[in-house]
Amino acid sequence: MNLVKRVHEIAGQNPSKAAYHFMGKDTSYGEFEQTVGKFANALESLGVKKGDHVAFLLSNTPHFLISLYATMRLGATAVPINPIYTPDEIAYIVNNSDANVVIALDALLPLVEKAHMALPAVKSYIICETDPSTADKMKQLPDAVKGKVHAFSSLLFNASSVTLPVEVEVDDTAVILYTSGTTGKPKGAMLTHGNLYSNARDVGEYLKISSADRVIATLPVFHVFALTVVVNAPLIQGATIILVPRFNPKDVFDAIKSTKATVFAGVPTMYNFMYQFPEAQPSDFESIRMAISGGSALPVALLHNFEDKFNVRISEGYGLSEASPVTCFNPIDRERKAGSIGTSIVNVENKVVNELGEEVAVGEVGELIVRGPNVMKGYYKMPEETNAAIKDGWLYTGDLATVDEEGYFFIVDRKKDMIIVGGYNVYPREVEEVLFAHPGVSEAAVVGLPDADFGESINAYVVLKDPVHTTGELHKYCSEHLAKYKVPKNFEILDELPKNTTGKILRRSLKDQALKQQ
Ligand code: AMP
Repeated sequence: MNLVKRVHEIAGQNPSKAAYHFMGKDTSYGEFEQTVGKFANALESLGVKKGDHVAFLLSNTPHFLISLYATMRLGATAVPINPIYTPDEIAYIVNNSDANVVIALDALLPLVEKAHMALPAVKSYIICETDPSTADKMKQLPDAVKGKVHAFSSLLFNASSVTLPVEVEVDDTAVILYTSGTTGKPKGAMLTHGNLYSNARDVGEYLKISSADRVIATLPVFHVFALTVVVNAPLIQGATIILVPRFNPKDVFDAIKSTKATVFAGVPTMYNFMYQFPEAQPSDFESIRMAISGGSALPVALLHNFEDKFNVRISEGYGLSEASPVTCFNPIDRERKAGSIGTSIVNVENKVVNELGEEVAVGEVGELIVRGPNVMKGYYKMPEETNAAIKDGWLYTGDLATVDEEGYFFIVDRKKDMIIVGGYNVYPREVEEVLFAHPGVSEAAVVGLPDADFGESINAYVVLKDPVHTTGELHKYCSEHLAKYKVPKNFEILDELPKNTTGKILRRSLKDQALKQQ
């Protein structure tokens, strides 16, 4: 079984059941299946075939669901990318992933126009219209680009038939998800059809997602948490996805009330914003039977405050891109432990080990390692990084954890220095590399510090070559070269940075110093 076959099967059995709800309108499984088959046909007409890579610059609209299922239906590989990345970041991923088709939101048309020269392998751009002026704007594109650009709606309209699902193997790559690595540049985690289907099935079974559920999808769909928990898991159970294009508390509360949604999934920052939303009423969450948190640590005080205010139970889980992503969740039919990421989900093993790879005693801190059908095939074109991440079939998560007598896991800290800002991952090295590229900077180090609104904030420590440069200038420079959420909140100019004897900058001591001053 795989995702495409399963949805095809559901559409056959229950064609009138709503697959998703968007802008006040339901789309049935029958209609969804038909559209996916037609869009697969349109992609085929552009030359997309089994094994090809298709990049997505999309957010939470039906275009994403249709594009994902049509791409997988052809046996091609989807590469979802955060559409708010800078042109440089997008170009890196599109080129590194060898994508030859890009499906983008119309808001990105200016970027397509500017970036197409930097993407020599891309043969076609498909523009998803969300604004009435898009057709005109497409007509005004320079000739060099115009020939490569197609409108999503006209491709669908002109599709000559419905393409049936192509046979794929469990080990064929369905999706490549870019996740930043310790080397600074993002690495593409190859998730197979087997990985994605098993994780959607196992997390769905563990959380008892059924066809009666209506699941709020406001988590960004290009991220693995959303992909499995609010897209694939509901679809393979015949549930209904409620697409909420952009997170804000009001839209989420309105969507819950108007659709009587039963499941909400969010990152801790979302819970924080919803909890603090002045107009929020306890009744706003009335229809929700299960609230899910993941992506970063949910503060225990926020968990209790939210649960008390909205009379709902929050189940925290844990995962990472490389594990499709879910490995642990607080069970919904057993005890929920505050501050814990819960127990291993069905078919997945989690273990805490020491530096030698040996299991540590209950309560002792070690690295969390994971084994199961959800563990990625490897990083795209990066065999060394793959071998460092997966040893003897176990994925080394880089997260430090403990486990209690009842098998509940607790994340202690990240072994790697990743910073999570409002649910988005930021790697210090990537920001440091941009700072180093500034002509006035001689040294730079970036660390995350606790932040009341976003979970963590990015803090940059810089040694200048010449004191004429200012922190305002560095801020501007970072804003030009990094997605907004990666731009440091604070810049501090220092005379020198702490280093160890081999000259390696000690980020940890900068962080400890800053924590003492907070
Ligand atoms: P990503 O690959 O973007 O999904 O990021 C995965 C990382 O997010 C993990 O390695 C953890 O460091 C972090 N993470 C995910 N869920 C949790 C959680 N519930 N508590 C603490 N950290 C988490």
